[in-house]
Amino acid sequence: MAVLYKYRVWCVTENTHVPTASFQASPPTTCPNNVAHTITASKTAVIDSDLSLEGHSEDTSNPHEVTSTQSGSISYGGGGVTLKDDSSPFIKNNSSSYSVVSSFRFGGSTQDGTPSTVKIVVMTNDNSIVGAIRVYDVTNSLVIAEDTNVTFTSDDVSEIKSLSVTGGNVPANEAIFELQAKKVSGGGELRFQEYTLQF
Ligand SMILES: [Zn+2]
Repeated sequence: MAVLYKYRVWCVTENTHVPTASFQASPPTTCPNNVAHTITASKTAVIDSDLSLEGHSEDTSNPHEVTSTQSGSISYGGGGVTLKDDSSPFIKNNSSSYSVVSSFRFGGSTQDGTPSTVKIVVMTNDNSIVGAIRVYDVTNSLVIAEDTNVTFTSDDVSEIKSLSVTGGNVPANEAIFELQAKKVSGGGELRFQEYTLQF
């Protein structure tokens, strides 16, 4: 199934970014607000995709089985986050050192702006776990956002973790970002469901 994206175009007429209203397969060639507007096509960027973190296995010898290599961010849907059980897709991580949960292209602050927060929907199968989660700029070897003391109150209940972005580390130009995680202590594993950069 093809991945669909939401895009943002730079509208010269309105002097602002304009997002597409729906997910689509290819970038818009006109302003979503008005086809008569002038846009700067080189500033068109992916801001979201309908790709979710899909698939998992119970292979306990491998701490992280699925890595997204699709560009664009992955977001959780509107209307709130519902409680999910073990039947929900997730990417598990119980690595003792930071390892990749998902990677994506960030367009750079010049084009996309500077995100303020990373929202991560994650749960665990053992709330004795203490995890660490970060967004890492692989291109420039900088930590964009990090929480080294991620804890949970229940098993198998999704929680939203907010990581504050270190704005000074956000690159001006495009870079590859990775969502990385590790288990610091305790039992079980981190189970990642979705995440998004918020601007
Ligand atoms: Zn416009």
